[in-house]
Amino acid sequence: MMDSPVSCTIDPTAGGKQVGMLRVPRSSNNAGWSGLMIPIVSVGNGAGPTALVIGGVHGDEPEGQVAALNLARTLQPEQVRGRVIVIPCASPEASRAYTRLWPSGANLNRSFPGSPTGPADEQLAHFLSTELFPISDVIVDIHSGGRNSLHLPWSEMHWVDDAAQRRQMVDGMLAWNTEWCCVYIDIGGTGLLVSEAERQGKIVVSTELGGGGHVTAEIHRLASSGLANVLRHFGALAGEPVRRASPPKLLMATEPENYVPAPESGLFETLVDLGQQVEPGEPVGRIHFLERVDREPEAVHAKAGGIVCVVRGVATTEQGDNVVVVAREADFAELA
Ligand code: CA
Repeated sequence: MMDSPVSCTIDPTAGGKQVGMLRVPRSSNNAGWSGLMIPIVSVGNGAGPTALVIGGVHGDEPEGQVAALNLARTLQPEQVRGRVIVIPCASPEASRAYTRLWPSGANLNRSFPGSPTGPADEQLAHFLSTELFPISDVIVDIHSGGRNSLHLPWSEMHWVDDAAQRRQMVDGMLAWNTEWCCVYIDIGGTGLLVSEAERQGKIVVSTELGGGGHVTAEIHRLASSGLANVLRHFGALAGEPVRRASPPKLLMATEPENYVPAPESGLFETLVDLGQQVEPGEPVGRIHFLERVDREPEAVHAKAGGIVCVVRGVATTEQGDNVVVVAREADFAELA
């Protein structure tokens, strides 16, 4: 395998606290010899698991970036058992622009496992896949709905076939202490960060903490407290993990019918709220047509019944865009 062109200014396997940079080489109109700089922090202290925490894979999801920045800034070696590696924002240019995608148009969460000879996003994905995932036991990838959608705040996982890996991922999902947990499928393409980490047999913990372009104080608290509790649960952070007072609820969004695409382009009007129960065939929204005042709006119907767990956050909608997700409420015994 070809070596990564991405360099790292710290040795993430060393002990103590180190603050450094990943550098992805690039060449632009204004700088022929340049690098995309991505901060990385490593805090090591003796024997124990290695946890890798990544925020800002999507630039318009500040929840994880803020939680990871707070963790990276404040974490000290005496709090750690093993090692915690934090990349607070994997897509800094997208974060500055408050966009999901990189300015190049790349979606870092479709770039995995990456390539040492591809564009910058693929080079970064390849470095993470070949240098940081293999030394990690637990990989935490913090997402939200971004500007484009509003989610019930939840921790989430893919179904993985390996029962031991799945059990540890369920425990990690529960350790975030969200009211909702969700098992989902990839409805928008492959190449996800978590998919490559799962393929490598890692314990992967991920979230969708709200979204819609605004972060409440409650969501920031949930991002920080959940992240710390997950690290405590796996033993990378000292202290006893805490559990929710009331049991969480499980959502299964594992069938294509759970995802409702816009049948036409137009201006989306949602008719349902997060957490609402809907029946199969129930209208969940309407598409309006700015150029056709005489035309009745086109109704959009739920295919499956269940709990509304995602609604579109940007009303301007193109045909095929997901407008609502309706998930089936399930028992955690299904994940055994
Ligand atoms: Ca995301």
